[in-house]
Amino acid sequence: SANPRDMIAFESSLSMLPHIKYILSEMTSPLLKELYEDLDTLEDLCTLIKDAIQEDPPLAMKEGGIIRDGYNPEVDKLRSAKSDGKDWLAKLESDEREKTGIKNLKIKYNKVFGYYLEVTNSFKDQVPDYYIRKQTLTTGERYITQELKELENKILGAHERLIALEHRLFNELLESIGAQLDRIQRTANAVAELDVLAALAQVAAENNYCRPTVDESDQLTIVEGRHPVVEQMLKGSLFVPNDTTLNCGEDRCLIITGPNMAGKSTYMRQNALIALMAQIGSFVPARECHVGVVDAIFTRIGASDDLSAGQSTFMVEMTEVAEILKNATSRSLVVLDEIGRGTSTFDGMSIARAVVEHISDPAKGLGCKTLFATHYHELTDLEGTISGVKNYNIAVKKRGEDITFLRRIVRGPADDSYGIEVAKLAGLPGTVTRRAHEVLRALEATAPKNKVEQMDFDALQEYNSPAVPSEVLEKLDALDVETLTPIEALNFLYELKKTLKGSLNG
Ligand code: ATP
Repeated sequence: SANPRDMIAFESSLSMLPHIKYILSEMTSPLLKELYEDLDTLEDLCTLIKDAIQEDPPLAMKEGGIIRDGYNPEVDKLRSAKSDGKDWLAKLESDEREKTGIKNLKIKYNKVFGYYLEVTNSFKDQVPDYYIRKQTLTTGERYITQELKELENKILGAHERLIALEHRLFNELLESIGAQLDRIQRTANAVAELDVLAALAQVAAENNYCRPTVDESDQLTIVEGRHPVVEQMLKGSLFVPNDTTLNCGEDRCLIITGPNMAGKSTYMRQNALIALMAQIGSFVPARECHVGVVDAIFTRIGASDDLSAGQSTFMVEMTEVAEILKNATSRSLVVLDEIGRGTSTFDGMSIARAVVEHISDPAKGLGCKTLFATHYHELTDLEGTISGVKNYNIAVKKRGEDITFLRRIVRGPADDSYGIEVAKLAGLPGTVTRRAHEVLRALEATAPKNKVEQMDFDALQEYNSPAVPSEVLEKLDALDVETLTPIEALNFLYELKKTLKGSLNG
């Protein structure tokens, strides 16, 4: 079904094959040698198309102009009939004038008779007998001759015949190329494979990837691993590399805690990507890497819902977790990001804990390599309870009310979630984050930090002060804006801020 322009594009691809083959001829690796063997330069097809098709053919077949000059004599003849027709007629006209001596003899054309010779009455006697009369006018006569009829056929039929012939020749070309499909596809496959290898080689060279050791062990050991996509997206800052030690023994399930935005998802995804890249035969974004072949990578990452299919966010999440628990084996790599967050805290935490137990405890379930990010700090108690569970967190530095993300993964549970600080960074209004701090302080006063079970939510009532302190409201109420000078307004603002600060610290 290719059109003429497809053929030209195909030819220009084919014309690169000899060069590709030449480059491959110098390669020594067995895989590249094999590709060298499989790669047919298809020069015969390239020449065939080049000889047959015009350089810039039209898209549609009906216009003609597809077949190159010199490819087929009949096409050339028909084409010249079209363009040379006028010259032929002029030549016939002057020949006839000479032969008959009729000086004003003219070849003309109309739709009814086609081409004819017109002779005025004064020259009627000189008309030779091979002229066939067609029409008599008051001023003269119109004739045709055998030769003029042939010329007319040649000129008028040439266009249609040319298009039909070009069509036929083009189809013949398609057929002869179609007959070589096996050769073409084998070469296309070799080029596709080479394209993948070249792309992987290029990113590896440009981005400083390392060659991983891939074996049948249960290891996923990465030194200074990076996320191949996130590191490209960071503008103006450097990606912080992180190590990973994961296996089916002592380091089976890593519980990763840390504030929002710290980099938990990035870290988990980078490990899964590195395992995947190593297994497809790519170099990996790390300084060193040892990957034991996994039979599958299961992930439950990000919030999505499928409302049109009648599934809520939580339902989608649980369905996916169910699939993972059903299908993962002890040789799988499982990446779970904040399981259970879509429901009430107690339910969510209970589900998360049960899932970790099932996945990481070989006696109970799978015992496969797992990365598990969570905001439920209670889950960090599992280290020491279930063998193979290790706590990690992504370090942050706190200075006053502000936090700096260090992006570095370290052993141990996170000390805080810093959710309100991150919310402030995100631009949540000051009144809301201040109120959130009040609520948090109230909750923490009734229970040890992060232990939701022991919190007394009723105690919150005592802290239900308005978000804007009453002194500030009173001052604003008493203010007469109409009479205020700019300098007074500025002083008032300054005073207001002072009051606000005093009341918050108090
Ligand atoms: P949440 O709990 O809110 O989902 P998170 O801890 O999963 O947050 P990520 O989404 O992984 O956080 O990371 C947030 C952003 O931090 C990323 O978009 C990326 O720009 C940056 N980031 C993450 N890891 C690194 C790193 N190692 N080096 C530099 N920047 C990083």
